[in-house]
Amino acid sequence: VKDEGRGTVRFFEAAMDEQLQARRRIEHELSGAIPRGELQLYYQPIVNGRTGEIETFEALIRWHHPVRGCVPPADFIPLAEQTDQIGRIGAWVLDTACAAAAAWPHPWRVSVNVSPKQFRQPGFAAGVAAVLGRHGLPPGRLVLEITEGVFIQDATMAVEVLTALRTLGVRLALDDFGTGYSSLSYLQRFKFDKIKVDQSFVRRLGRHADTLTIVRAITHLGHNLGLQVTVEGVETQEQLAMLRELGCDQMQGYLFARPAPMTELSQAGSADRER
Ligand code: C2E
Ligand code: CA
Ligand code: CA
Ligand code: CA
Repeated sequence: VKDEGRGTVRFFEAAMDEQLQARRRIEHELSGAIPRGELQLYYQPIVNGRTGEIETFEALIRWHHPVRGCVPPADFIPLAEQTDQIGRIGAWVLDTACAAAAAWPHPWRVSVNVSPKQFRQPGFAAGVAAVLGRHGLPPGRLVLEITEGVFIQDATMAVEVLTALRTLGVRLALDDFGTGYSSLSYLQRFKFDKIKVDQSFVRRLGRHADTLTIVRAITHLGHNLGLQVTVEGVETQEQLAMLRELGCDQMQGYLFARPAPMTELSQAGSADRER
């Protein structure tokens, strides 16, 4: 029994060792991804809930790995957050997205995801101001998508940074709303411009009767607080019909468009204009 136990331990040690090595390899490869030009931003339209017109594009990062192909953010953003790479990657995302938006043929907004660790870096708000200035992008055309993770370590500091960003004129969205532990309490801490209802709710619409009640309640709550309500993950006409009736301000999802490089999306945009 003793030997078997030792064997099991050794087996786990070997497995962990392999995991650790794989992690280190990805970490190393990721550190060279920016200079090698392997990172790219895809954009997904966010449309007006009533008119269907494009208002904003959310920037979503992709890593084109030479061997593994297109790596989704879920497979490397958490790692970048654990190591100190998120600062550089986040700065690259912000710079690239603002440069792109400044050149768009329409005053579309660009919405950029900010990781909690990136947000907490000293001088974050000043960095945002510098990027806007460098590209001549009016602050009102930038939306920053924040998750409740920014409040966890130091909520007072988070509110200070959010207030500084608000003063710049940047718009602020609370992302993944409803999935965390205390989404509601954060609405008291800071007045966001909008909440983004997590796509897990939309997925269950029409399958669970209670979900419609919850999304309706979130929408009313947001509206009564003077916030806009965006729903994401809209995939079906059935979901669209339900969400329209609730009066959601913006919608986003595969039903409208999948995230894609801007060159592919701007054609959809011009088709929309011609209609
Ligand atoms: P998120 O911010 O909640 O982004 C929405 C995710 O839902 C995106 O996945 C998007 O492609 C996907 N999506 C949009 N419409 C639909 C739909 O109709 N159905 C389904 N099933 N999915 C839909 P993606 O691009 O894989 O990004 C995943 C997460 O990675 C994002 O979640 C965000 O948390 C993070 N992320 C992406 N880009 C960045 C970035 O530049 N910086 C940071 N810090 N995080 C990022
Ligand atoms: Ca987002
Ligand atoms: Ca989200
Ligand atoms: Ca999410």
